[in-house]
Amino acid sequence: MTPTTVLTIAGSDSGGGAGIQADLKVFAALGAYGTSVLTAVTAQNTRGVDAVLPLPPRTVTEQLDSVLGDFAVRAVKTGMLGTPAVADAVAEAAKAGRLPHLVVDPVLVATSGHRLGVVTAVERLLPYARVATPNCAEAAALTGGPVTTVGEMVAAAQALAAGGPEFVVVTGGDVDAAGESVDVLAGGGTTTLLRAPRVDTRHSHGTGCSFSAAIAVRLAAGDPVPVAVATAKEYVTRALTGARDWELGAGRGPLDH
Ligand code: PLP
Repeated sequence: MTPTTVLTIAGSDSGGGAGIQADLKVFAALGAYGTSVLTAVTAQNTRGVDAVLPLPPRTVTEQLDSVLGDFAVRAVKTGMLGTPAVADAVAEAAKAGRLPHLVVDPVLVATSGHRLGVVTAVERLLPYARVATPNCAEAAALTGGPVTTVGEMVAAAQALAAGGPEFVVVTGGDVDAAGESVDVLAGGGTTTLLRAPRVDTRHSHGTGCSFSAAIAVRLAAGDPVPVAVATAKEYVTRALTGARDWELGAGRGPLDH
């Protein structure tokens, strides 16, 4: 059977753990056909990001036109956008209705501390998002308040959902909630907590990328947002558990897709 086509608009991670490379692995693992539009090239490995080259907005638009002009893309995720000019190019396509089931992962700073995006760029895309997936640091940057507890995650998810995206999931992988990893989903007038056992591992690089990519695949398959998000969380927990004892690189290693 012909697989469903999904698209990632994101940056390249030469180490293969995050960004475009993670997204394509998730798409393949979940049975979708993956296409990709590169926004930036990063030189990085499991220890961190060594260099970033943002691509010209025109190159991003040209890739979008090539992919969307041929494939019936059923869902799209965005990751690292790099510059406001690239975000504008992507937002223009979203505004024209060319990016169905848009999942926006508002990538701002790598866990290693390297800046990969700016709030003003992400904000241009959020109004078109079906689902936005900030982690706690990104939710704090977007709302201007601290987001370090489950209560603050609830407030941030609700505030962000009121301002553009249909649904917002604030991911809590960095908050140890009594041995659990708790994500907060807000939208459609309700707020839900999603719980999973915390996986203690240094192999967690690309967790956010993988989560948003998995949501896009499930939305393409027709799942309602809460089902897509719950399935994606199960996928990420499984991928973290599978790589728990791996020894790839000396820093934060990749997940097991
Ligand atoms: N590199 C790229 C290209 C990314 O898109 C991202 C996250 O979205 C990262 C690095 C950072 O990943 P992590 O914070 O899991 O290290």
